[in-house]
Amino acid sequence: MLLELKREAYEANLALPREGLINLTFGNASAIDRAKGVFAIKPSGVAYEDLTPEDMVLVDLEGEIVEGKLRPSSDTPTHRRLFIAFESIGGVVHTHSSHATAFAQAGRAIPIFGTTHADYFYGDIPVTRKMTADEIGGGAYEWETGNVIVEAFGDKDPADFPAVLVNRHAPFTWGPTVAKAVEVAVAVECIAHMALMSLQLAPQLPTIESELLNKHFKRKHGPGAYYGQTGNC
Ligand SMILES: [Zn+2]
Repeated sequence: MLLELKREAYEANLALPREGLINLTFGNASAIDRAKGVFAIKPSGVAYEDLTPEDMVLVDLEGEIVEGKLRPSSDTPTHRRLFIAFESIGGVVHTHSSHATAFAQAGRAIPIFGTTHADYFYGDIPVTRKMTADEIGGGAYEWETGNVIVEAFGDKDPADFPAVLVNRHAPFTWGPTVAKAVEVAVAVECIAHMALMSLQLAPQLPTIESELLNKHFKRKHGPGAYYGQTGNC
């Protein structure tokens, strides 16, 4: 069932190594069918070159496996937590892309220094607090990872900030579709790389001026958007 959904998730998972966002098997993508309350996610530990669309595992929002011969990715509870909390999103991507992960490991939000960043985010890319020993060792680590992300968002709109850095870990991104979540994962890696270089050149660099942030973010997002085609972003 839901072959089209599985194919969407499959294509997104294959895009991650192709875009240079993934080494080994450190990453995963999922796509949800909101009407059915079921998402398709990569199976655990399978090499990308061996994946097929049929290998995608279907999981419901209660965490039950609906269909699949293989075990779902170990990060599945984090994806499920995000799908429950952020009702507008249709896909989630997790990578350990190097530059974004460098900020995550340092426990630093990615400061918004330029318009590339402002095209996707309405401010700094947030970082979670560190997870506690209980959250890490209490038997629900991946679900608790989702909880610290939700906590970090508070009442921030996930559409205005389509990514987060999990402290000491790596980025999660999302979007209205999983293909868009992949695009954001690529953007986050570029933005992190550029931010790091900007900090090397100008360690005291202030963040972008609010006029420029508003111009770039709002021409692509929200009711006044005029960039691209209708329905884009
Ligand atoms: Zn990870």
